[in-house]
Amino acid sequence: MTTFLYAPLLQPLQIGKLTIPNRFCAGPLTLPSVHGPFGEFSQDGLAYYEARAKGGFGLIFTGAFHPDTLVDPVHPLDSKQPLKAPKAFQRSAVELLERLDAYGTKMIPQISMGYGRNAPGCFCPSEIPYYHDPARLAPALTKDQIRQKIDQMIATAVFFQQCGFPGIEVHAMHWGYLLDQFAMTFMNHRTDEYGGALENRLRCAREILEGIKAACGSGFVVSMRLALKSYIKGYNQPSLHGEDEVGRTLEEGLEIARRLEAYGYDCLSVDFGQYDSFYYAAPPCYMEKGRVIPLSAAVKEQVKIPILCGGRMNDPALAAQAIAEGKMDGVVLGRASLADPDFPRKVAMGCPQEIRPCIGCNQACLDQIFAGKITSCLVNPRACHETEMVSVPARTPKKLAVVGAGPAGLSFAVNAAQRGHVVTLFDASAEIGGQFNIAKQIPGKEEFYETLRYFRRMLAVTGVTLALNTRVDAAMLAAFDEVALATGIVPRVPDIDGIDHSSVLTYLDVLRDKAPVGERVAIIGCGGIGFDTAMYLSQPGEATSQNIAEFCVEWGIDTSLNAPGGLRPEGPVLPKSPRQIVMLQRRAGKPGDGLGKTTGWIHRATLLARGVKMIPAVSYQRIDDRGLHVLINGEPQVLEVDNVIICAGQEPQQALAVPLRAMGKPVHLIGGCDVALELDARRAIAQGTQLALEI
Ligand code: FAD
Ligand code: NAP
Ligand code: SF4
Repeated sequence: MTTFLYAPLLQPLQIGKLTIPNRFCAGPLTLPSVHGPFGEFSQDGLAYYEARAKGGFGLIFTGAFHPDTLVDPVHPLDSKQPLKAPKAFQRSAVELLERLDAYGTKMIPQISMGYGRNAPGCFCPSEIPYYHDPARLAPALTKDQIRQKIDQMIATAVFFQQCGFPGIEVHAMHWGYLLDQFAMTFMNHRTDEYGGALENRLRCAREILEGIKAACGSGFVVSMRLALKSYIKGYNQPSLHGEDEVGRTLEEGLEIARRLEAYGYDCLSVDFGQYDSFYYAAPPCYMEKGRVIPLSAAVKEQVKIPILCGGRMNDPALAAQAIAEGKMDGVVLGRASLADPDFPRKVAMGCPQEIRPCIGCNQACLDQIFAGKITSCLVNPRACHETEMVSVPARTPKKLAVVGAGPAGLSFAVNAAQRGHVVTLFDASAEIGGQFNIAKQIPGKEEFYETLRYFRRMLAVTGVTLALNTRVDAAMLAAFDEVALATGIVPRVPDIDGIDHSSVLTYLDVLRDKAPVGERVAIIGCGGIGFDTAMYLSQPGEATSQNIAEFCVEWGIDTSLNAPGGLRPEGPVLPKSPRQIVMLQRRAGKPGDGLGKTTGWIHRATLLARGVKMIPAVSYQRIDDRGLHVLINGEPQVLEVDNVIICAGQEPQQALAVPLRAMGKPVHLIGGCDVALELDARRAIAQGTQLALEI
């Protein structure tokens, strides 16, 4: 029965002359770790892609190759282009394609015409403001330079064909990259044949296609990544529901799709949004799944070529239904393919409950990319570390105790049991999940529940013995060979006079134990938990992830990566928090600057919209019946509040390690109980997994 529900995803898909064995496409992700110094696929890259092929993806798109360094001399990726070291690239490509072939998987590399205003120093169709530095205007390309770029795209396609690839995808008329800029009147002010009427604005896309088909033959597949709507109302300004669109309207998106088909494109891979409306471009957990499907359905009515659809589409039932109803032909899973390379195989085998879901946190993927760090995945730390983090059967299976069923303990228990160890997982509470049980109650973070659902299933599948409602002491662990201590944290209690006053609550009192909270609230601490607590306490009425998502779109909350966050000044009256909330921190910087780049804005903007105040550079004096006494910029003030809520960070809870070590028991500290630095779930899961692979 289960397989039947997903049958539409398991049918072959014809793209031009290329047959894809199923409807699962691994989305194009820019992953520096998969390339060597000259753009060739590294050993890590081969392992990364092979894992996705083995996991059942019928088609894999690579991240974009940028063969345009002649024209953009300061291009940030200039050292990583395949044409610089063609032999090395070809060797690696041949090996990769052989490996993928063993699983029947096809691969289509993306070729980029350029970033345009999305990257510092790059050239644009016209002189328009850079995204990251709007005060600066990007230089416009000359006609010769445009021709040069197009020729390079064609030459790269020819080269890729010689390497054995069956086609390429043109990057990209989406996310506001160069080709997207050419296509929009808003960004293309040229008066030559590359500007003006739509036909001219699409000229690059047409000349690229015609050149590739002429050189590679009509059977060589050419796909286009196309955003059907931009959702912007200006540079660095996302649009409301898109009704005041200055970028691409859906109507124009559909017209572009018709023309691309007429030019001879074999396939369109559609989504929405761009850097300026990042909420759409890389939808976080605050946007519901499948929001792009109605747009995909609209384009399906206009064209006959296959339509692939991506953008938080990681619900197999949703994707299967959309295919069955003719709203798309294949699903593009980007972040979801990082989170679980075996996503398609698990669907095909009728056990989608075992899929490790992408929770749309962006923490270890996009936030890492924007911080210049190696991309991976919060729920799957082995992503992009396939060659280092290898799971092999344990030589000597051990009897292992795990104390604490939070993310660290869970990831350790499942991975250790998979290797053949005999694992018992203890937790003092009645539920697995640790702090994730609290996190999942924050509006928009309900998705964290999915991680716990996955782990619950995997504990059963791997045969871990689960002992809930069991507070462990050292004596109970005498019979185990080794102990993984994952006991997490205790909330930090700051040293402030009157901290034991009856008005003082911890975030656990509020979020876990549901202590009553008054109308006037001061929150001490502007870290992730301070923000989440403020989100929870300020929700107007019954908040759900969906209405928070709609709220943000509806009120035009600024999604741009570098913007401080906040509403457009002309925005309408907003639903205010039912409480007066003030958030405080001791540091002088901007409150919330430690939150993730791609999602932090949504917290700041939502809270500001609800009237929550944020005050930095505070010195706490005392708490008494009048409220919280503080110095703000040296000035004494009394914040007259009903409750002071402590969100002042956390301290590792590692007391159990001392008696265990005294007993001579090998003890390993993982997750929050290890050190007070970077206590987040990404590190907890990574540490649990790493230890399980080594023990
Ligand atoms: P914990 O999750 O703290 O689990 C420890 C477990 O040990 C608990 O279940 C406890 O009952 C058990 N235990 C302790 N002592 C004993 C004992 N003696 N015997 C038996 N059991 C014991 N992180 C992110 O990365 N991103 C987020 O968006 C995010 N949001 C959050 C929102 C909120 C509201 C909160 C509270 C936390 C959030 N976090 C987030 C932090 C994240 O949840 C923690 O970093 C993570 O849970 C730490 O995992 P852990 O396994 O080390 O410990
Ligand atoms: P945190 O992010 O370290 O923030 C702690 C806050 O408390 C800071 O604002 C700090 O600011 C303040 N503080 C620290 N010591 C203090 C003291 N002695 N007295 C008064 N204030 C003090 O920790 P957290 O909020 O507890 O979050 C825990 C972990 O969960 C973090 O790793 C966080 O990243 C993760 N998390 C992430 C998210 C997310 O959305 N990505 C959400 C929730 C939690 P000052 O020192 O300036 O006062
Ligand atoms: Fe998804 Fe978060 Fe993993 Fe990124 S880090 S792939 S958003 S679960």
